Order: sequence, then C-alpha cells, then structure tokens
Amino acid sequence: SYSIDRPVKNWDQKRKQWLKHHTHFAESTNNRVLIVTGSQPSVCRNPTGDHLHLRLFKNKVDYSRIHGHEIFYNNALFHPQMPGFWAKYPLIRSAMLAHPEVEWVWWVDSDAVFTDMEFKLPLEKYERFNLVVHGWSNLVYDNKSWTSLNAGVFLIRNCQWSMEIMERWTSMGPKSPDYEKWGKTQKSLLKDKLYPESDDQSALIYLLLKEREKWGEKIFLESDYNFEGYWLSLVDDLDDISKSYIEIEQKVEILRRRHAEKVSEYYGLLREEYVNGIVKRRPFVVHFTGCEPCSGEFNPTYTWEACWNGMQRALNFADNQVLRRFGFFRPDLLNSSLLLPLPFDFPLVW
Ligand code: UDP
Ligand code: MN
Repeated sequence: SYSIDRPVKNWDQKRKQWLKHHTHFAESTNNRVLIVTGSQPSVCRNPTGDHLHLRLFKNKVDYSRIHGHEIFYNNALFHPQMPGFWAKYPLIRSAMLAHPEVEWVWWVDSDAVFTDMEFKLPLEKYERFNLVVHGWSNLVYDNKSWTSLNAGVFLIRNCQWSMEIMERWTSMGPKSPDYEKWGKTQKSLLKDKLYPESDDQSALIYLLLKEREKWGEKIFLESDYNFEGYWLSLVDDLDDISKSYIEIEQKVEILRRRHAEKVSEYYGLLREEYVNGIVKRRPFVVHFTGCEPCSGEFNPTYTWEACWNGMQRALNFADNQVLRRFGFFRPDLLNSSLLLPLPFDFPLVW
C-alpha cells in the first residue's frame, strides 16, 4: 500500500528484485537521484506567492535539467493529518516505492534556491550513509540546539532503513495520538525551539540525541558546504560574488582572444582563484527559512521586503548562470525585468 499508515516491509529485497527485472538500471553503478519538492494544494494567500513558487520551481527544474536528475513536484497531501512540513514524509515514502530505480531521494523545500548551478553532490562521500542533512554535530550533541541541523533539504537513500526512520520520525507528528506530548518533550530538550508544536526538525534532532545507537551511524551531518544555508547571512554577498565571477569571465575572455591555443591552461588558473578563496565561492543552496512566500508571513525580526529582495537576488543570481548559455544576463539582481545580451560571445565552459 502507498499509505504511510501501513509500514513497508523488506523493501531492500523487493527493490533488488525489481532491479533484477529492469536490467538497464545497473545496480552497481546506481546513483540516480530524484529531486522531490512541492507546495500546498490551494492558491497562495500572499498575492505574489504563486509567482514566487513558479520561479522557485523553475530554479529547481533548471538545476535538475543541468545535472540529469529527475524531479517530482507535488501539491497534493498524501496524508490528511500531515499538512505543512510534515507533508514531505508520506510523499518521500511514496516516491521511493514509485521509483525503485532511484538510489536517492533529494527533498528540497519550495523555499530553497539552488545558487550554484554547477555544483554536484559529492555522492561518493555519502556511500556508507542513508541520510544526509546540513548540520553540525557539536551543535546537536553539545548545544542541543533547534538550529543545529536543518530539515528543509536532505538526501535519503531508497531503502528499508529509510522507511523505518520515517515511520519513527513521523510518530512524533500530527497523525500521532502523542503529538501534543511530543511538542512538550521537544521544547524541553531544545531550549531555543521557537514554537510549542512538534516539528520534523526537532524530531530528527531528538532521534540523534535519544536514539543515536539506532540511527546515528547512518546519518551524515554535512557542514563542508552550503547543502542549504540560511538566507539572511548569504544574500547580501550575492552582488559581490556575481561581480567577481563576471570579472574572472572577462579576464578569461581577454586571455582567450590573445592566446587561443593556451585556453585550457588559463581556465584552470582562473578557476583556482575562487577555489583558493581569492574570490568568494557561490553558496550552493540558499534557504529562505522564516520567509513564507505563500502565506506572506515572516519572522518579525526582519521585514517582508528583506525576504522579497533576498529571493529576487538569489533567483536572479542563479538564473544568470542559466541565461548566459542563452546569451543573456540580468545586470541588476534586484530587477528581474531588465535583461541584457552578454557583452561577448560567452565561451561554453564551467
Ligand atoms: N510543503 C508541501 N505541501 C504543503 C506545505 C508545504 O509540500 O502543503 C512543503 C514546501 O516545499 C515547504 C516545505 O514543505 O517548503 C516546508 O513547509 P513550511 O513552508 O511549513 O516550512 P518552511 O519551509 O517555511 O520552514
Ligand atoms: Mn523551508
């Protein structure tokens, strides 16, 4: 059954069997990733909400297309008692059953933006893990902080272990008779948790803190790069990062014209400038936690205008990396309507 109320058993064997009958999905080299994302079933209350969702989705489609990942966008609730951020679990579970050919499901919140269109997931690094989230183990285990990891973007392996952890995870959610109790338990465990209701991020931290022997060794907390990053500390840099990338591109173009034969060498050298920190690296994913595009609500420590401008910056920053292949760019990250042709024939590298 596809309903999350009925536990899946022996999924590893069943999946293996399926793969045997579908030999073109070679098991040994299988690192297929399905990006899964979605939004609420109805019209957004915020008048610009659906426009933002369209742009946020376009960004994910572009990233998927460039990297050859499949993407599934869902706006149906797969379990009536699991709305909001809890909606992703029945959905991920169904996506795993519907796509035995994919090794990984990559959940990406609607309010997360891919801001480095070239960056590829380092999947080899995650080989012995089943769940990858952005987080810091000292903040989880020492500080017991609500923001020690983020549950808005994660990679989860298509396997029985994942079925089981999601069952345990969602046993703290609104479909459980103990939902209220779990809210209290989480709140007393994580002092900086903002609201009293049980949430999936707290639930995952709870599992790491209280059931570490059972789940811990298969969960990887990624902190080497912005697997997702908090928007407030990232969006102000995007203009500068954008300018320095354009400078490098122009340098490369000048060198290319002068020494066409040495072109690859120069690319290598210039690329190093950002790898070595001379130029600030693009963040991989910027996540607009605390800004609610659809409802228009936002964390009162900042304004809606800050959210809106941040999203425009991130979306246009990302889209410029897509558009240049088509010969155009937006010179002003805050002005989505102004498009210019690239000043030179852009070399198709990077
Ligand atoms: N979501 C969904 N269906 C819904 C509501 C939310 O698929 O009916 C997804 C959506 O991608 C959203 C994510 O769940 O980004 C997290 O939910 P929410 O907006 O409540 O949390 P936030 O992203 O603001 O932390
Ligand atoms: Mn989010």
